[in-house]
Amino acid sequence: MLNIVIFGAPGSGKGTQSEMIVEKYGINHISTGDVLRAEIKNGTELGKTAKGYIDQGQLIPDELMIDILASTLDSFKDRKGVIFDGFPRTIAQADALKAMLAERNEEVSIMLDLDVPEEELMTRLIKRGIEAGRADDNEETIKKRLLVYHSQTAPLIDWYKQDGKYQHIKGYGVLAEIFADVCKAIDKVK
Ligand code: ATP
Ligand code: MG
Repeated sequence: MLNIVIFGAPGSGKGTQSEMIVEKYGINHISTGDVLRAEIKNGTELGKTAKGYIDQGQLIPDELMIDILASTLDSFKDRKGVIFDGFPRTIAQADALKAMLAERNEEVSIMLDLDVPEEELMTRLIKRGIEAGRADDNEETIKKRLLVYHSQTAPLIDWYKQDGKYQHIKGYGVLAEIFADVCKAIDKVK
């Protein structure tokens, strides 16, 4: 079972790399951001709750997020593995993921940390806001999300180092080169 955590600040390219990984390795993909945006689009109760947090650049509460993750994971039949994109984002979520996988006699194979300089993140997200119209990709909300990333999410770097799963990836430059580094790291643990 190949279980990959793709990690990085907002705009670091988690979604882009995930799509390429899914294509090459044939594993399932969970993007918590995509799940929440679909709920918002469908106007569900969950969507209404999520929108309040996302528009403020804040994280959705852990308990809610962990429930969503567990039910998405169980919806996959005969899976070869999963790429976790946008989860975990807090220490509590990382603890929950570890427990959830352990219950199924599995573990995280590798955590890939897409490292991108902050100015580049800003540029990418502002561009995405204009092109894709994502409501949280405006300068004010982006700044809040980066603060949330540094305070609540970046501590996971040390968490995964201690867990022996951490792999740094240079996340800017030529897209194909980033993906080549990603594949090299995955092939070592596959
Ligand atoms: P990227 O551009 O690298 O895909 P991102 O941070 O721009 O990353 P998403 O992962 O799509 O975007 O997340 C968008 C928003 O959804 C977050 O700002 C947050 O409010 C909410 N969210 C997504 N995943 C989680 C999570 N695991 N825990 C709490 N909130 C989450
Ligand atoms: Mg994404």
